Amino acid sequence: MQTIRGFRDILPEHITLWQKVEREAADLFESFGYREIRIPILEKTELFARSIGETTDIVEKEMYTFEDRKKDKLTLRPEATASICRAYIQHKLYASEPVQKFYLFGPMFRRERPQKGRYRQFYQIDAEVFGVESAYIDSELIFLLNELFKRLGLTGLSAHINSLGCPECRPAYQQALLDFLGERKETLCTDCKRRIEKNPLRVLDCKVETCREALKGAPTTVDHLCEACDDHFKTVRASLIRQGVDFKVDHALVRGLDYYTRTAWEIQTTSLGAQSAVAGGGRYDRLVEELGGPATPAIGFAIGFDRLVEVMDQLGTKGEEKALDLFIVPLGNAAMDLSYHWSCDLNREGVRTDTDFRGKSMKALMKRANKLNARYVLIAGENELKENKAILRNMDTKEQTDIPVDSLVTDLVNIFK
Ligand code: ATP
Ligand code: MG
Repeated sequence: MQTIRGFRDILPEHITLWQKVEREAADLFESFGYREIRIPILEKTELFARSIGETTDIVEKEMYTFEDRKKDKLTLRPEATASICRAYIQHKLYASEPVQKFYLFGPMFRRERPQKGRYRQFYQIDAEVFGVESAYIDSELIFLLNELFKRLGLTGLSAHINSLGCPECRPAYQQALLDFLGERKETLCTDCKRRIEKNPLRVLDCKVETCREALKGAPTTVDHLCEACDDHFKTVRASLIRQGVDFKVDHALVRGLDYYTRTAWEIQTTSLGAQSAVAGGGRYDRLVEELGGPATPAIGFAIGFDRLVEVMDQLGTKGEEKALDLFIVPLGNAAMDLSYHWSCDLNREGVRTDTDFRGKSMKALMKRANKLNARYVLIAGENELKENKAILRNMDTKEQTDIPVDSLVTDLVNIFK
């Protein structure tokens, strides 16, 4: 049996890097007042169709949707924002405290063509803030990404930001874009010809070369912002600059989800080929209301965890494997019984101990101790046990000490304290 296409196992030798990222991210987010949230992987299809947008790639082509036995239409979550909004509304979290800051780690599912940096089950690190309209929170989120990547030792990343305007200024921009695209309609791909009718902003997001070419010189959202959106974007830029966060304004950045308003951004890398985005985010001030909640400004980002780890791998970053304090080598049945109890007793006292119950030879077990990177080995041989002792060996210095069996656990706890 094999994993299905686009799905993969992440094996223990790679997990330490994932854990390092999780620890750094949780530490940083929590120090800024974000709290972890966990939500289901399966939701009603309608939640994603309504929030992400019917004419987006995700909803049109990429979702894993099926009917369960009761004919309910369900979807494996392709992203987390919609579900977190659903939770915010369902539990009336706004009633106890309108400002809520969340973070989340977890798998997402999109049926895309698998390739390096693109999987059908992939992982995201998500952060979302509800109830804050101020531009400073936009900057805080971009700062957080920048700071996290710095702490992880990442280099070669650049932040691209844009403002997508609001329902006030979007229609005038949309019209200007339509006028521009109208003259170039023939050179657009079939998808974009359809997008023009349904959702012209999506054309800006098209990856087809002829469409990219046709878009050169297109009107920009930033030139069409209303005064409030313009002020908002100015504050974002100024406050990022003051914190030393590098970015560039990217007029072509619209992001692949319909719910964004005002600030949108992406963190890009040059080291993953075509899969250049390691994180993306944006403001979605209308979404909570559209999903049936009270009007609530909101904003968030998602980091592509798999891609982040791939960049770290390329940089040679290693996770930390916590070494064992002690590996017990039992030789003979009596020793094995003692080893089991010593291992439980020592672990109970916080000494990181493992042993082996296969009845293998001294040589085989020393090999295993080395593989496990144990700092010390306790050899419980038949002759030693007859003399009521075991031998403690420091694997670095090769120094050996006799430990009396009667006080073994207390003696070792003292040594490893
Ligand atoms: P892309 O343009 O690469 O398809 P996206 O805009 O669809 O990305 P988002 O929905 O913004 O991606 O998700 C945020 C992040 O999740 C992306 O920046 C990327 O790092 C990661 N991501 C998205 N889709 C995948 C995937 N299929 N496999 C691995 N990572 C992914
Ligand atoms: Mg995509």
